[in-house]
Amino acid sequence: MRTCWINGAYVPEAEAAVPIFDRGLLFGDGVYEVAAVMQGRLLDADLHLVRLARSLREVGIADTVGAAQWLEVMQALVSRNGIVEGLVYLQVTRGVAERDFVFPQGATPTVFAYARPKRVSDDPNAAGVAVHVTPDLRWARRDIKSVSLLAQVLAKEAAKAHGCFEAMMHEDGVVTEGGSSNLWIVTDGAVQTRPLSSKLLAGITRDVVLQVAAEAGIPVRERAFTVEQARGAAECFLTSATNFVLPIVSIDGHPVGSGVAGPVTERLRAGYLARARALTAG
Ligand code: PMP
Repeated sequence: MRTCWINGAYVPEAEAAVPIFDRGLLFGDGVYEVAAVMQGRLLDADLHLVRLARSLREVGIADTVGAAQWLEVMQALVSRNGIVEGLVYLQVTRGVAERDFVFPQGATPTVFAYARPKRVSDDPNAAGVAVHVTPDLRWARRDIKSVSLLAQVLAKEAAKAHGCFEAMMHEDGVVTEGGSSNLWIVTDGAVQTRPLSSKLLAGITRDVVLQVAAEAGIPVRERAFTVEQARGAAECFLTSATNFVLPIVSIDGHPVGSGVAGPVTERLRAGYLARARALTAG
């Protein structure tokens, strides 16, 4: 059985439980992070922990663990569970208290984490995935990595019902994000993705891919694009911590470009992988 970590203890998965009065459960009152594991090592965990600290600050939950201990816990979960390729998930909620909307006095945040295997370097989806276009039903602070994910659950379920891997969410025709990824297009050889704001999550992978593109001499535009522009783009792709860079080869059944992974996307995936391999090498 898998070993998880909860409130300071390493326990078997079946014993990693929270009371029904946990505010994460009652209100979705919590934040989380997900980092990839390659070659048995965490990838960019430091960057994920900086974002975690920011999410906690923005919602006024105390950072009772801190980056140094989180790093120790994440690494311990990777080794205790023998993860070579996969991910570590961690969550912080405002804690356990009688159900009341306002912040409870004196509640201790609930903290937990687990690891799981997942193929990341040779992802079977690397040949390309399909997306389904769906309205973005989320709140106005998408820059906070909140566990209140009902809108994404619905968007990704709709995508699955249409035989698609991911949702392309939009507001009035303007693409916001994937259900759990940032979205990009390639036009005239330049990559384009939405600029950072409270309307989207500042993807760690997004940031790294911007650097990889710049280093490869690929022009970058941080500008919003529409569903129509995505449909007419030469290439389209998504980024996330555990999918890295995945080509989007069809949008609601219509092929993007030639309907196969495009050259710019392939270069970025290869560049991202090379960096990840180097960073996680023994
Ligand atoms: N946007 C949303 C809505 C997400 O859920 C995610 C993944 N958690 C991302 C973007 C990508 O962020 P990252 O590259 O840090 O995984």
